Amino acid sequence: MYVIDQERCVKCGLCLSWCPSEAIVGENPSRFRHSLVYEKVYIDPNKCIECGLCVSEERPCPFYAIYDDKVGLPVLEPADGTKYSKYIYKYNPEADNYYARFFGEEYYREDSNVKQMIAELPWKWITRIDGDIMPNCNFYVAHWVLPHDEPLMSVGHPPHIHRDPEIIMVIGGDPENPNELGAEIEMCFGPEMEKHIINETCLIYIPPYFVHCPWKPLRTWKPWIFVEINQGLRHTEKVYNQMLPKDVVEADPALDFFRDDGFEG
Ligand code: SF4
Ligand code: SF4
Repeated sequence: MYVIDQERCVKCGLCLSWCPSEAIVGENPSRFRHSLVYEKVYIDPNKCIECGLCVSEERPCPFYAIYDDKVGLPVLEPADGTKYSKYIYKYNPEADNYYARFFGEEYYREDSNVKQMIAELPWKWITRIDGDIMPNCNFYVAHWVLPHDEPLMSVGHPPHIHRDPEIIMVIGGDPENPNELGAEIEMCFGPEMEKHIINETCLIYIPPYFVHCPWKPLRTWKPWIFVEINQGLRHTEKVYNQMLPKDVVEADPALDFFRDDGFEG
């Protein structure tokens, strides 16, 4: 039999809508400021079909108040000041070197120019995380872009797709004028490579398998923040250099930076 522990339950009513047989009953709802609060929430054993949905991972009671009495009330470890520390992630570039992970052995090879290329970038890494670092967490990256007078790279980040939807946030760093980016970036969209100039704070949505880029920061006169969110547990990227002129591709060593990541074949 499924029951609700009345001490743990905060009577929010969230579980009422989940139950397929309307077995969860909420009595006398009211508002406590803006919070919906019932006088009592309980499970009617005559209606409960014991489907288990109200104790599933998809529909959890945030307060772990619902339980199967054959299993017992979930035991909660005491919150001793460290219980939830695992959710606060501080990026440590020594322990989690993004470039070393991305380039693999090539990063460490003595004849590789990867470290040199990275050192010359006007970027300051802020943080990154993905499902390997935090279970079930999507991929996020954030870095500053510092002033530069010349375009970064002749081609830029070449055309590519991602398996999952992507959000790119382009955030101006001036709190007095947050819409001002202080930079110009050239970006192409679609198989037609429709060209746009990004010069204000904005958010760019990239649907799954939508070909986009080159992404080419032309110049930056005020530091701004770049945030990339791949809405999957891991970053994926499939590169389409064949959309660019052959001679241009062959002449740009920076294109070594960009390679298929997370796509098979
Ligand atoms: S979701 Fe949990 S806390 Fe909210 S009413 Fe249901 S049992 Fe109570
Ligand atoms: S076990 Fe299924 S039927 Fe019973 S209260 Fe939970 S959701 Fe409703």
